[in-house]
Amino acid sequence: MKPEALDLQARVDALRPGNASKHLDFFGKLLVDNREMTIWEHDTGLLPVGARIWRRRARDFARRYIRPDAVRADSLPREYDPRPIVSQAARKGFQTLLLALPLGTAFPGSYFLKSASFQVAVVAEEFAAESGGIALLLMAHHLGCAPLILSGHVPTILRHLLPLYARTLRGRPEIMAFAITEPGAGSDVEETEGGAEARLVTTARQVDGGFVINGRKCFISDGAIADKVTLFAKLQGEGLESWTCFLIEKGMEGYSIGRQEHKLGQRASDASELILDDVRVPQRNVVGRLRSGWANNRNVLNYSRPVVGAMALGHARGAFERALEFCRSTVRGGKRLIDYQDVQIELADMIVKLWSARALIWHSCSQFRCYQSASAAAKVAASDISFEVCTKAMEIMGDYGYLENRGAESLWRDSRLTQIYEGTNQINRLAVIEHQWAEISGRCGN
Ligand SMILES: Cc1cc2nc3c(=O)[nH]c(=O)nc-3n(C[C@H](O)[C@H](O)[C@H](O)COP(=O)(O)OP(=O)(O)OC[C@H]3O[C@@H](n4cnc5c(N)ncnc54)[C@H](O)[C@@H]3O)c2cc1C
Repeated sequence: MKPEALDLQARVDALRPGNASKHLDFFGKLLVDNREMTIWEHDTGLLPVGARIWRRRARDFARRYIRPDAVRADSLPREYDPRPIVSQAARKGFQTLLLALPLGTAFPGSYFLKSASFQVAVVAEEFAAESGGIALLLMAHHLGCAPLILSGHVPTILRHLLPLYARTLRGRPEIMAFAITEPGAGSDVEETEGGAEARLVTTARQVDGGFVINGRKCFISDGAIADKVTLFAKLQGEGLESWTCFLIEKGMEGYSIGRQEHKLGQRASDASELILDDVRVPQRNVVGRLRSGWANNRNVLNYSRPVVGAMALGHARGAFERALEFCRSTVRGGKRLIDYQDVQIELADMIVKLWSARALIWHSCSQFRCYQSASAAAKVAASDISFEVCTKAMEIMGDYGYLENRGAESLWRDSRLTQIYEGTNQINRLAVIEHQWAEISGRCGN
């Protein structure tokens, strides 16, 4: 290098904020943070202690157990045995995060300061950065458990959730799934106005000692492998307002698994049809009160949408990390891609998007009780951002980005699904408007 170039580099270095701030007074130095650290470390430092611990544990688990399975689970989903990873996750406490210690594994400080889904969302991002399918395989379980808690019905919690968590903590994990979608009702069971006209087939008829259920559910994540399903049915002769949640157990007579879908992404988790043909469900398996299903379902979605947002964020972060590695190791035109300023601007744009998604997700579950519009907004923003970032990562990686399971394409496929399930993003936008309607229509506020 020429001496003038060295001179210029030395002057640039001296001007960098970390060096320049050495000239500040003692108190001036205290007011800025110029430490060099990764964004991951920086953001982890913002978390309450319990969530911080789960974030570190989740990243270690994802790298150690999920990463080695990711390609196999995506390429050969029908041959992939999900039980070992589920057992491993359960043993480490990842499947019992919806209750605080000692009943579950969430840390009480973070649990009561934030919403019950906060620690789940923190974990979801880490899992999804390695594999969308395995992340869904593990996260759908929390969705299945959520109606038991959000029913708020103490006998349900004591009878079903606590024993389930106790068995899981003893190393005998059970997989739960959540079933609202029916062949004629997807969005309509996720949105108020559609709900009023929903064409539901799954019906519960009251009999001595319980109910007999007939009908179909479809697209149920983990449906084929679930030991138990929280399943919603209308009462005979009534509509969606009578929706009631029932706990359906594998092995119940008349209950079977139908078609399993071939999916574009998140393949490690099955999306299955559930068939109910005169299934007799005892009274003790009614989750919460009769006719409380619609309210319970809406609350479950409010708790789980930030988690879906966090999964989307994880896919995007994984794609970004792969693109970054590619830019560091690829030389074009005599220098590394990372040293081109226009590539740096693209990367900065991705960082800004990832950071804004994380900020909104953490914000949306930052209070003990979740808030419909914030949950829906976090899901919409994070999933849209995720698809943009994954697309950009593939673009930066050129041909390599498009290679199956080597570039960013699997995460790109995974991320697309987060714009669709738990309500399409259109339906989630309607959830924002519905909740803020008093403000939007001018009935309240300034
Ligand atoms: C892989 C996968 C996994 C899933 N896992 C589960 C699960 O575990 N449990 C479960 O119960 N469900 C699950 N689902 C179902 C999922 O939540 C629904 O598929 C989703 O909400 C969309 O419903 P739909 O496919 O019936 O779309 P439709 O309701 O048929 O919507 C079709 C289109 O119309 C639009 N639309 C509908 N209504 C309106 C409206 N009022 N205003 C504006 N636009 C509207 C939608 O946005 C969409 O673009 C899963 C789906 C998939 C694909």
